Amino acid sequence: MTDASITALLSAIPLPALLVGRGERIIAANPPTSALFGPSVTGRHFITVIRQPNVLDAVEHCLADRQVHKTQYLATRRGQDSTYEVTCSYVDTPLGQGVVVVFQDLTMLTKAEQMRRDFVANVSHELRTPLTALIGFIETLRGPAKDDAGARERFLEIMAREAERMERLVKDLLSLSHVEGEARMRPTERVELSGLMQSVSSALAPLARDADVAIEIEAGPEEVHVQGDPDQLRQVLTNLVENAIKYGRTGKRVTLRLGQPEEMPELQGRGVALSVTDYGAGIDEIHIPRLTERFYRVDSHRSREMGGTGLGLAIVKHIVTRHRGRMRISSTLGEGTTIRILLPLD
Ligand code: ADP
Repeated sequence: MTDASITALLSAIPLPALLVGRGERIIAANPPTSALFGPSVTGRHFITVIRQPNVLDAVEHCLADRQVHKTQYLATRRGQDSTYEVTCSYVDTPLGQGVVVVFQDLTMLTKAEQMRRDFVANVSHELRTPLTALIGFIETLRGPAKDDAGARERFLEIMAREAERMERLVKDLLSLSHVEGEARMRPTERVELSGLMQSVSSALAPLARDADVAIEIEAGPEEVHVQGDPDQLRQVLTNLVENAIKYGRTGKRVTLRLGQPEEMPELQGRGVALSVTDYGAGIDEIHIPRLTERFYRVDSHRSREMGGTGLGLAIVKHIVTRHRGRMRISSTLGEGTTIRILLPLD
């Protein structure tokens, strides 16, 4: 058997893998190893290639006791740290003898784990604030304010607001998880967009009136149909118009615009643009790339005061992605914000 056939076998493994022979030289390595150690490692002493003491120890122990040894390997490539789990297994076959060292990249796993932890911490934090307020008011109503009818009314009102905030948060979380669950399922219904715009505008008319904001609609007379999920597209528009009213109210008006169907390079085909514009304070450009992250807010205090959960734009982004569309945010401080949703037509 030749080293070439060992290399061929190692090449079937879709992870960096190499064989260190009993003479402590690398007998064979598969192509993915070159990303970690450079192109020509075969024939070299393994110590000059791998270099990290814990991995060297694992290989040496495996050569000595022929047991499986696991450790971690830290690599920095293009400024990014990656963690690999290294498994050293002794092989004794007619093909070759020595230690097969396999490197499994754990970066994505570690990242996903970190995201999960952050998410749970964020949700807990968001729920704890209203919950603490509720518990505090319940105690006050049971104790010092027991017989104070005026205080009771006031506190109950605040308690109702806090409970509604929790309800909204739970609703948004469920909606996000629902959209994520369906991310790979292309929606199948036909949705008419100008009717949808009218309908969302009517549904939000009371909110707009209370904020002293006028909703304007600019759309051609023709109907425009897309393949979509009507409830989800309604949610996209609702979230965007609600934000425009909440955060852009100083501009006094909000414009919903439906463009003409046209060729869109970003969609690699024909599409249509729906946009929501407000003429309020605008958003500093440093925040724009992060607005669709869960719980990201430009001004947390203001968002909470307005009843925001910090999940609205994350939900919009997920829905648009499910529809194979694009979302574009442009804003000028002091002039206002436009969010465009591009949806494919065919
Ligand atoms: P929230 O529930 O806080 O409104 P969103 O995900 O909908 O969460 O929005 C994230 C943040 O983006 C908001 O907290 C707000 O700071 C900012 N934002 C969204 N829309 C606008 C807008 N039209 N004008 C200014 N800021 C906005």
